[in-house]
Amino acid sequence: MQILKSNRAQFVYETHALVKSFYPAWDLKILTPESVVKDRKISALPPSMELEFLDDCVKFTVYNSLHNIENTYTCWDVGQADAAAYKNTFGRFLYTSLREETGISLPWGNLTGVRPTKLIMSMLEEGKSEQDIASYLEEQHFVSREKIALGMEIAKREAEILRTLHYENGYSLYIGIPFCPTTCLYCSFTSYPISAWRGRVGEYLDALEYEMEETAKLCQGKILDTVYIGGGTPTSLSAAELDRLLTALRRIFDFGAVQEFTVEAGRADSITDEKLKVMKKHGVTRISVNPQTMRQKTLDLIGRRHTVKQVTDAFLMARKAGFDNINMDIILGLPGETEEDVQATIEQILVLTPDSLTVHSLAVKRASALNKWIAENGVTAYNNTEETMRIAALGARSMGMSPYYLYRQKNMSGNFENVGYCAEGKYGIYNILIMEEKQTIVALGAGSITKKVTRRTSADGSENTLIERCENVKEVAQYIERIEEMVERKRVLFSE
Ligand code: SF4
Repeated sequence: MQILKSNRAQFVYETHALVKSFYPAWDLKILTPESVVKDRKISALPPSMELEFLDDCVKFTVYNSLHNIENTYTCWDVGQADAAAYKNTFGRFLYTSLREETGISLPWGNLTGVRPTKLIMSMLEEGKSEQDIASYLEEQHFVSREKIALGMEIAKREAEILRTLHYENGYSLYIGIPFCPTTCLYCSFTSYPISAWRGRVGEYLDALEYEMEETAKLCQGKILDTVYIGGGTPTSLSAAELDRLLTALRRIFDFGAVQEFTVEAGRADSITDEKLKVMKKHGVTRISVNPQTMRQKTLDLIGRRHTVKQVTDAFLMARKAGFDNINMDIILGLPGETEEDVQATIEQILVLTPDSLTVHSLAVKRASALNKWIAENGVTAYNNTEETMRIAALGARSMGMSPYYLYRQKNMSGNFENVGYCAEGKYGIYNILIMEEKQTIVALGAGSITKKVTRRTSADGSENTLIERCENVKEVAQYIERIEEMVERKRVLFSE
């Protein structure tokens, strides 16, 4: 464990995110005067870094392995600044110090949030010119020109795609099915092996149906724009269970204005012709068949328990069933994968030509089994590179696709981003909504999080967006038992 000592509990989140971006392999703990008291054993460890917030400056010290001072950086510009300017100056100071210390520049500079395009979009909405936005990102946040161009292209496309949505009086619906055929090594979602829950799927669907009925009452008079069934893997359900779910969904909610209806089929080992027919019958417009990689050795290692051939077969089966908007997800930076492996994956995907391709950089989540795997096998998982990002982007563009949404996660391999590419008109509106937080998303099922978005106009005429959340419990048995409480949480949220 590496310790960063700070004399104030200030900017802890930002500091942690930025230091981890420069030192992805570190198990970093930030100790403030408060946390020292709570955690005596860890507080006795010598620090690798130290932050001192003083009256007229901030000092950042880096120690070497013998615990002697290696370098000290001082920022004198913070003394007179107001709170927002102070935070901004601190972020710039910490970034430039770490850049000097490591000799590394990060593609997204000191932006540590997950939604860089949201920042660009809001500046465009404020009427700022592209040139002003680019200068701001480059000078204030050290974002590379390449990422600025990518972010700008996406923000403009997002604004165009979202034009037809009902912001004020509309909403989108998310349904979570928390079951999968097996658990992938990198998974941090709410997901349980379907084999362990087979006997209680009916009870889960009972609870979900009740939640749908009660929630639909809260949404009366509002326009449903998009529906997304995710998880987990919704197609882990049998064809009959899927039919039951989709029948209930269409009976309970008004689909009259729905622009997009997605089912994240996801795992090839869960897709059958019968299930595809069920989805088609109920008007599903968009599905995902996610390989993650087309290298069998990696699929075996990450616990996908399906073959490359199953991916190809499932994709072709879906095409035959009439799906003309099929997404494929891939992950770059998977354990042991080289640039040649990524190239080979892309070439196999080119043959299939999906309608959209979502390119993820592997993110190592605390809760995932991958964390343990890295501890045992070393940090070879962090091998995403600019070259693999380029290979994937070129592959997507050669299929006539353009980037249409982007987000970042903590602890991403190579400090890059996840990008959704799509052919003309084959975007996933819901994906943009999740990132840009412009519309209420009502989320049902275990582990789902509802986000209520309210726009307000202040006395000075400026627009503010208020986002309120309400969570469902993750554990399936708890969800079933406490379903009334989950519904009550929504009643409270939507009555405010
Ligand atoms: S398919 Fe997705 S949700 Fe299911 S275990 Fe794998 S990563 Fe998790």
